Amino acid sequence: MDQAVPLDHFSPSVFPPGHKGWHWLQVADGLLNPICIPVALARGRQDGPTVLAVAGVHGDEFEGMAAIGDFFGGLAVEALCGTFVGMPVVNPFAFEGQMRETPPIWDGLNLARQFPGPPAGSLTQRLAHALSAWTLSTLGGDDAFIDFHSAGTRYEYLSMVGFHPTGGPHEEKSRRLAAAFGLERIWEIPDSPASRTTFNGCIARQGIPTIGTEVCGRGGLVEADVSALEAGIKNILMHKNMLRDQEAPAISSPGASMAWRTSMVHTQTSGLFRPCVSLDERIVPDQLLGRINAATGEVLEEVRATIAGRVWGIRRFSTVRAGEYVLLIGAQAGA
Ligand SMILES: [Zn+2]
Repeated sequence: MDQAVPLDHFSPSVFPPGHKGWHWLQVADGLLNPICIPVALARGRQDGPTVLAVAGVHGDEFEGMAAIGDFFGGLAVEALCGTFVGMPVVNPFAFEGQMRETPPIWDGLNLARQFPGPPAGSLTQRLAHALSAWTLSTLGGDDAFIDFHSAGTRYEYLSMVGFHPTGGPHEEKSRRLAAAFGLERIWEIPDSPASRTTFNGCIARQGIPTIGTEVCGRGGLVEADVSALEAGIKNILMHKNMLRDQEAPAISSPGASMAWRTSMVHTQTSGLFRPCVSLDERIVPDQLLGRINAATGEVLEEVRATIAGRVWGIRRFSTVRAGEYVLLIGAQAGA
């Protein structure tokens, strides 16, 4: 095997204008071979911003992986001003393990709770450190970062594009990216200790305009979602005036009134979750949303709404442990 190039030695700027190709970059040591991730790089012939799109922070979220490959395959580098970088599988351990998290034989950690990551922690922590350090050394305030997620194996979500309430001018840039991406639902990602340690939450708080997406999941990929995410990448490049001969799409109204907030509904008990609402259904406070059954059929818990809103996500893997969330509710700010 050729000498693997470590991620931190990879600089898009050393490649000649007009370069387009896949690279394999080392993110960890393996027993036999370096552990590498695929990275797509296209450098336009004219200078411009850099857009970085990543997927596979969770190994069971496939739509963004496919969208990055599809977009890059069709990208005409001759029309590009600036740089596009795509990383479809940023957690190669979770991907190989066909799991959401890094498999237990390494450390069993959720990469989306480790950013920015200590340089000398466990494997997943070191991966978070390498990814965030590279991203922050590559992107600035005029660039864009896209982190593709989906509902994974156990949930089903409506499509949504989110930004973080970081305050300041970067939040407005992120909000405009979200509006430009082209999905109907725009979501203000709730600030919490968990959301701050996601890849997108960490990078957004370092002043890089950032969006994240969620789509269907349910253990697979829906081609319409892949197409919508591919179109979203293109829309972001057009918004950044990076595609020559293509007009930036008009953003109708990127104001705060468009953004929704989401909240999770957690269970108090363990058992079989049996939802009695549908995706996108409008709900009112105290409405019955589902039940938790014991294996004997006994109703252990009635899951009820505490706010008005719409059902944006439903747990589809039916067994649930106490404390897990079973529904994601979207509510429009002020509504
Ligand atoms: Zn995810």
